[in-house]
Amino acid sequence: MGKHLTHKRKTPTASTREAHIEAARALGGRCPFCDVDLFNEHGAFTGEVHHHDAASDARIEATMPTCGECNRSFNATPAPRALIEAYHFKRKRLNGALFSRKRTAA
Ligand SMILES: [Zn+2]
Repeated sequence: MGKHLTHKRKTPTASTREAHIEAARALGGRCPFCDVDLFNEHGAFTGEVHHHDAASDARIEATMPTCGECNRSFNATPAPRALIEAYHFKRKRLNGALFSRKRTAA
């Protein structure tokens, strides 16, 4: 499958968005880039989902939660790759802990 970069923005599915919101919550509820709170006092997600690869790529591996301000700044300056990778590393480890039937004692 060739990867065609288009300018067509694809919105993440509801389940992808939900997975990012739950991961953000479990990881401390803060923007991975600037540490601002991504949830309001009622626990509602106030951030956005950033497309860090292509706007047309809305897979869970190609998107992540950020605050609105960082998301807008990434139009001019791409998000730091190390922080993108750190988020996905933690998210996957979290999914393992949440969904694995094998539980290891902490
Ligand atoms: Zn931010």
